[in-house]
Amino acid sequence: MSKTLQAVRGMNDILPDEAEIWEQFEEIIREWLHSYGYRPIRMPIVEPTPLFKRAIGEVTDIVEKEMYSFVDALNGEALTLRPEGTASCVRAAIQHNLLFSQPQRLYYHGPMFRHERPQKGRYRQFHQVGIEALGYEGPDIDAELILMCARLWDDLGLDDIKLEINSLGSAEERATHRAALIAYLEGHQDKLDEDGKRRLYTNPLRILDTKNPDLQAIVEAAPKLMDYLGEESLAHFEGVQTILKDAGIPYRINHRLVRGLDYYNRTVFEWVTTRLGSQGTVCAGGRYDGLVAQLGGKPAPAAGFAMGVERLLSLWVESGNALGRQEPDVYVVHAGDAARRAAFRAAEGLRSAGFSVVLHCGGGSFKSQMKKADASGAPYAVVIGDDEAAAGEVSLKPLLSRGEQVRIPMDVLPETLAERLLGVEDEDGSV
Ligand code: ATP
Ligand code: MG
Repeated sequence: MSKTLQAVRGMNDILPDEAEIWEQFEEIIREWLHSYGYRPIRMPIVEPTPLFKRAIGEVTDIVEKEMYSFVDALNGEALTLRPEGTASCVRAAIQHNLLFSQPQRLYYHGPMFRHERPQKGRYRQFHQVGIEALGYEGPDIDAELILMCARLWDDLGLDDIKLEINSLGSAEERATHRAALIAYLEGHQDKLDEDGKRRLYTNPLRILDTKNPDLQAIVEAAPKLMDYLGEESLAHFEGVQTILKDAGIPYRINHRLVRGLDYYNRTVFEWVTTRLGSQGTVCAGGRYDGLVAQLGGKPAPAAGFAMGVERLLSLWVESGNALGRQEPDVYVVHAGDAARRAAFRAAEGLRSAGFSVVLHCGGGSFKSQMKKADASGAPYAVVIGDDEAAAGEVSLKPLLSRGEQVRIPMDVLPETLAERLLGVEDEDGSV
């Protein structure tokens, strides 16, 4: 016998019980984004490799070791499965001249790919909802991005997600800080790990972001970027904080928050929970004023964030606020040729009236069909035998409540079912 094939490690199937929760989440997300005036954009999943090298930076975890890159066997083009969405979104905005006459509030949702060590909350194919506000300069949009997140946590019924913010200043400010940081780290060179040694002169800021517990004391005591910020950067950061305070959103300034991608400047933020172990960041973002120009567009300021959908959903399910399975309203059972034809008519009539209907397919006795009806979770079964069919009638049988089975003309089935469904909820007092 041949070996059964498995999905690629770290890339998950999302089975129906879980996929229904994803769809509920997506509905909430869409309404939430619409309420802030964001519009959807959909980019390809495969992009030219140089896009990510240029946007994310050569000396980053993603570009150094996490990208699924390959050469197109047909034309030799260097391609990469997108590891994040900002680079593609900005590329698309430039390519289609979206920033020509107005700023853009954009969002996307979809799979991202990173070759990491799979563990809970960290996968090789994972999903992000990404938000990009292109063409906005002031601290107001940075603050609005953060407020948006707070509202979403509220809409999902999630507490226990904490906000951390920092400012990365401008490129010049980072350069001055960088010199001080290198001098400081050189004093501890022998204690740095391999990544640290390698990044000491290429990307020392990223050493502050290390997850290595042995380096925590060293990076804790390192020179703080905040102390190197000039007036404008400080005023911008103040501006963000004023709006957060007005909105009553608690936050902590984390001086070591530098983000894993090179394109950020000024405001950066992360939303972190303690409930997901070490994979606790559910949302991360910030300002990236240089990226549009870096990718060849006319210079334009921008800010955005991305949420990790798998991490958010496991929080949501754990919180007990995710809805369960969506049962059909009715399951239609039937036996006999005339009954089957009547069953199709009845089912389509119910669907036209807006009900969710599972029509039994595959034959079998009434008894075995009724078992399937019970298992479907539908509150009612419609039962059609040949004598019902001959009379143009159907039987409506309650499956969850103890009410009576009734036999009624097929053409009054939709209205009768509507009354019954409301009636059942009344009995529970749960309308
Ligand atoms: P981490 O430090 O956890 O590796 P990151 O800084 O690489 O995160 P970003 O590139 O900022 O992550 O992506 C935004 C969000 O996407 C993260 O906060 C996280 O919720 C989610 N995310 C990132 N990588 C993964 C992954 N491999 N599996 C699942 N979710 C992920
Ligand atoms: Mg990462």
